Amino acid sequence: MHLRYSYRVYPTAGQCALLARTAGCARVVYNDALALRKEARKSGRPYPNSTELQKLVITAAKKTAERAWLASVGVDPLIQSLRDLDTAYRNFFDSVSGKRQGRPVGLPRFKSKRDSRQSLRFTRNGFRVRSNGKLYLAKIGDVRVKWSRALPADPSSVTIVLDAAGRYHASFVVDVEPARLPEVDAEIGIDLGLTTYAVLSDGSVIDNPRFLRKAEKRLKAAQRELSRKAKGSKNRAKARRKVAKAHAKVADTRRDWLHKQTTGIIRETQAVYLEDLNVHGLGRGRLAKSVHDAGWSTFRRLLEEKAARYGRYVGIVHRTYPSSQLCSDCGHRDGPKPLAVREWACSACGVLHDRDLNAARNILAAGQADRLNAPGGPVRPGVAIPHRARPVERGTHRNTGGTGREPRTAGAAGIPRHSAGGGCQGKLISTPAARSTARR
Ligand SMILES: [Zn+2]
Repeated sequence: MHLRYSYRVYPTAGQCALLARTAGCARVVYNDALALRKEARKSGRPYPNSTELQKLVITAAKKTAERAWLASVGVDPLIQSLRDLDTAYRNFFDSVSGKRQGRPVGLPRFKSKRDSRQSLRFTRNGFRVRSNGKLYLAKIGDVRVKWSRALPADPSSVTIVLDAAGRYHASFVVDVEPARLPEVDAEIGIDLGLTTYAVLSDGSVIDNPRFLRKAEKRLKAAQRELSRKAKGSKNRAKARRKVAKAHAKVADTRRDWLHKQTTGIIRETQAVYLEDLNVHGLGRGRLAKSVHDAGWSTFRRLLEEKAARYGRYVGIVHRTYPSSQLCSDCGHRDGPKPLAVREWACSACGVLHDRDLNAARNILAAGQADRLNAPGGPVRPGVAIPHRARPVERGTHRNTGGTGREPRTAGAAGIPRHSAGGGCQGKLISTPAARSTARR
């Protein structure tokens, strides 16, 4: 199982310039290869394969006058950049052929010089972790790393990422054994919402932290400052950095919180059932900002990844399942209820229901029925159309403390901790094909 371990790195000013130049070269190589493939398509010739492309846009290009500067940077990140183009094409073809689920993927596009993000991947020969703790990158030099926790094994590659907020991170890929947790009996259904973040079928409630809403004032002030600066000025660039930093802070806080919640749930339950929410649909409506702020997709992805890592199960109940209309006591279908209705009494058996708790119980029942029946087949035709969870990949997080939910903090089994302190994420990744489905 491949996991990602991410650390903050602090390159010197000179190293930053070298990284920027390497990223520029990687972008040019990518765009040149993309142009070649597009030309081949236009003229009806077969696509040049990876080896041919590499020869054309790197080895041969270095010898020409207008691409001679490609020789001044390490070759490894350039080759990796071509691999990325291959992946982009594969995702496109898989999407067209239906092999890849989710939203359609378009053709790869040219990379823009104006994009301030950088990402450079170094493989075996291109990097080394030195005994003094520095990270050696070919043709860049020794970079200072903040080792917030120990690497569990030798990494196979490292990606240096510069985000919009101007921070550099080194993301290592490490091959580790899955750590199965001892089995527990508990299974839960989860009803996700905006008023409360989630209601669990055992009655516990996760409040909605609304990170974006809380930071809105600060974000707006930064945004206003940016809009006042003259276009193309240094002060504008500075203000833009400030806005990016404020957004990054919100995203970081949200991610930490989601990691804590999902780790707690996976640790304490053997199986988790969720509704398949139409996040893209909801994200366009009046509630768009709140939906985005909730991070439901990340919540689900983290649950799936952690379940894969720790031997748990995540079941997804189809979005047409009427979880808020059925009575979880007698199964009577009571009809649709406006969102404002928080409580209702079943017209058949008279039991008074909390809307969300009732839904969570229904999701649990539907998910369990789905799991018992043949995977993929309907449980009750017309009512529950079960849907198996996607293959699981990227990402999981070492638990750094409580889950933040009082009734559930006393966990049944502890997720093993790594030795060193800190709060970096180990992200689970896997084969390109499987990974592609997780990125929709
Ligand atoms: Zn009833």
